[in-house]
Amino acid sequence: MLFDLHTHCKIKEFDGIVNCTFDDDFSLFPRFSLGIHPWDVDEHWEEKFAMFVGLLKNPPVGSFHDRLCAIGEIGMDKLRGGDMKIQEICFMNQLALADSYQLPVIIHAVKTINEVVTCLSRFQLSKQVVFHGFRGKPEQAAFLLSKGYYLSFGPKFNPESLRLAYQSDRMFLETDDSGMSIADVYSLAANSLSISPTDISVPGIFTS
Ligand SMILES: [Zn+2]
Repeated sequence: MLFDLHTHCKIKEFDGIVNCTFDDDFSLFPRFSLGIHPWDVDEHWEEKFAMFVGLLKNPPVGSFHDRLCAIGEIGMDKLRGGDMKIQEICFMNQLALADSYQLPVIIHAVKTINEVVTCLSRFQLSKQVVFHGFRGKPEQAAFLLSKGYYLSFGPKFNPESLRLAYQSDRMFLETDDSGMSIADVYSLAANSLSISPTDISVPGIFTS
């Protein structure tokens, strides 16, 4: 089955990581990510964060920690979301959680690549960092790849950035909230890379 790095679509018969919200029934998803989205960071962020910490400490279902495969999506967004300073504090707190639970991170960064990388550099995360929904230019892609980060692409992407990530073996594909099927996203990427969709392989960090 084609691996979908990041989706909000909660269907069955699917291989990938569902981005859950705190009130989801986690037993439904073999793999999910959990975090406070930058759009949801407001003056009540500390209550949400406390709830998040509580879930991690006292998981509601037995296999919660086996299924939770990343903290995310978390990050910073200059176009939408709360005050940038609060976004940064909330992001840093969630990176600390990823650090202590040794979990990968799925990043949402809109016009904040430098700020996000600065925050990341304050931690020595033992697990992978994936920038999801990446639409940046090749220079930005090369910068993030040089830091060892992974890039995940949805239906809209810069073809040269996609190629750089694929050649570095750090490319993922995703549907996010596009409503498109993951097969269609694989086809778009395959077209752009001039290969067959069945020849696309993505890193096995979440599946092996
Ligand atoms: Zn998303």
